Amino acid sequence: MDATVRIHPAVDDGIKPANPNFSGGTLVCACTDRPVKVRIEGQIAHNHACGCTKCWKPKGASFSVVAVVPHDNVAVLENSDKLKVVDPSALIQRHACKECGVHMYGPVEREHAFQGLDFIHPERFQEDGWAPPGFAAFVSSIIESGVDPGRMDAIRSRLRELGLEPYDCLSPGLMDAISTWVAKKSGVLPA
Ligand SMILES: [Zn+2]
Ligand SMILES: [Zn+2]
Repeated sequence: MDATVRIHPAVDDGIKPANPNFSGGTLVCACTDRPVKVRIEGQIAHNHACGCTKCWKPKGASFSVVAVVPHDNVAVLENSDKLKVVDPSALIQRHACKECGVHMYGPVEREHAFQGLDFIHPERFQEDGWAPPGFAAFVSSIIESGVDPGRMDAIRSRLRELGLEPYDCLSPGLMDAISTWVAKKSGVLPA
């Protein structure tokens, strides 16, 4: 294992398994004063490492760790006045803490295959036991954040060692889900 290639603090020392009894928890931003707290009911889904330039990443990490939950399972508990939408024109309405910059939740409200889901960063849970990442998405995009393209072979190898199959868009399962939604909407497949 080449542990000198850093991916994200939540996976660099090996992936922690899910607790089958995990029933949700509280996401907390990085502020020491008046942190934003967001309650998530139930286990997260489709957790993955993401190399896109839009996801929030902790300092020094090339990838984010990001998952989805149904929007109805998300509730802001404390200090909602500190939240602001990063880019109101984006598909994912990422609600970030204005002070520390952590993205707390990102609903998809537009008509889309992911409508009704919120993107969250499970490393911000104060509890353990959330479902670990299962793949790596938008891997080539880390170059857009300044990663030397010559390091990509080592980074992809490290992702595979960790069991995070690298993809340059989303995983085949999610790409198929998006295309199926589009095909049903256009009517070329039965709804
Ligand atoms: Zn904060
Ligand atoms: Zn991303």
